[in-house]
Amino acid sequence: MELRQNHSLLGHNTFGMDVRASWFFEYSSEDELLEALPRLERPLLNIGEGSNLLFCGDFRGTVLHCAIRGAEIESTDAETALVRVGAGSNWDSFVEWCISHGLYGAENLSGIPGEVGAAAVQNIGAYGSEACEIIRQVRTVDAESGEIRVFDAAECGYSYRDSIFKRAENKRYIITSVVFALSREWKPILKYKALASEFEGIEPSAEEVRQAVLVMREGKLPDPKVLGNAGSFFVNPLVPASRIGTLSFLYPDMPRFDAGEGMVKLSAAWLIDKAGWKGFQMGRAGVYEHQPLVLVNLGGATGQEILNLANSIINDVYDKFGVELSMEVNRI
Ligand SMILES: Cc1cc2nc3c(=O)[nH]c(=O)nc-3n(C[C@H](O)[C@H](O)[C@H](O)COP(=O)(O)OP(=O)(O)OC[C@H]3O[C@@H](n4cnc5c(N)ncnc54)[C@H](O)[C@@H]3O)c2cc1C
Repeated sequence: MELRQNHSLLGHNTFGMDVRASWFFEYSSEDELLEALPRLERPLLNIGEGSNLLFCGDFRGTVLHCAIRGAEIESTDAETALVRVGAGSNWDSFVEWCISHGLYGAENLSGIPGEVGAAAVQNIGAYGSEACEIIRQVRTVDAESGEIRVFDAAECGYSYRDSIFKRAENKRYIITSVVFALSREWKPILKYKALASEFEGIEPSAEEVRQAVLVMREGKLPDPKVLGNAGSFFVNPLVPASRIGTLSFLYPDMPRFDAGEGMVKLSAAWLIDKAGWKGFQMGRAGVYEHQPLVLVNLGGATGQEILNLANSIINDVYDKFGVELSMEVNRI
């Protein structure tokens, strides 16, 4: 059992916050976790690669990290393979593994930082795909009862960047593995405009789609090793279609996407950009110059400084457009 006291989290969060955890515990098996649980100081915080966390101070409690890794094919039929993956596996390595094993459905999610367990919490998405489209089952340990609980995908409450695991009452579920249902037949997913035009008139291979996604991502997002960040800080707002009449009239170029059930998805990046925040700096916190959805640590910023900038943007966008932005990043 590896339990460390007063552990630095600097290397465990991509925003580069220099904070500490009273305790840090890494487990390599469910048995190890189950044995340790009764003795761990509360509260508990599950951490993956910390690529969607904003620490606003030291964490007084125990930070848990899953080191259960690896992928194993559990069953196959003519169309699908069910693959169990340890929650501590790196997401992008898993995507690479899928392609090399002739299993498809994850390639558009290439290059997203983080681990497999967190991908099932966050319902990660990009380039026309979402993790929930391939998640079949999520296996957890209940930190309160010490029991194993398995959730079928339908029980996970997946929607845009959301799941039941994000709710405070479900933080008790520690994800140890995820079962994915992957297609054995290759069919490119080219719903995303930029991918569709990249491959117009061509049938790309899965590896070609992966490489195209990796190249597009590189051009848009700052490397956290160079500039601390957690990817998109805000989610795209969903608003009732009945509310956007005036906005569409005032801003005919405003991007909007039908989200079904009478809702419209707006582009948070467009709203922030239009409000004039792109490239803005507030002390040591900034809005990334090439992608206004991304807030960056310009060097030595505290979580509170990042949060102050985020709140200023939320208030300003609300004043200008009447649209409320919400944060994607988990604040700790
Ligand atoms: C440069 C950059 C680009 C990004 N691009 C995208 C993108 O395109 N699409 C996208 O969706 N996201 C994107 N993100 C956000 C981030 O990569 C995802 O949210 C990712 O899933 C976070 O994984 P993580 O392992 O770092 O989780 P963490 O940030 O450590 O944790 C995220 C959440 O999951 C919980 N958690 C972690 N592990 C477990 C576990 N084993 N059991 C239970 N709960 C757990 C945590 O408590 C927390 O609530 C990006 C981030 C960066 C820095």
